[in-house]
Amino acid sequence: MSRRESTKAFKACIKCRALVPVETQVCPVCGSTEFSTEWSGIIIVVDPEKSEVAKFLNIKVAGRYALKVGT
Ligand SMILES: [Zn+2]
Repeated sequence: MSRRESTKAFKACIKCRALVPVETQVCPVCGSTEFSTEWSGIIIVVDPEKSEVAKFLNIKVAGRYALKVGT
């Protein structure tokens, strides 16, 4: 299993950077319908209130996010 194959199954919400399976139509975090398959870096937020990175990225819901979205 290559890294490329494992990440290709996800796309990133353009609005909140949440990573969702490619078949997802609506972002479960912010309700946006705009996604990008051009993303890089994964951050997994378990407890947004205690995570400095989550605060920095303005993430309020636990989940998996892309560090960078777009090219
Ligand atoms: Zn979103």
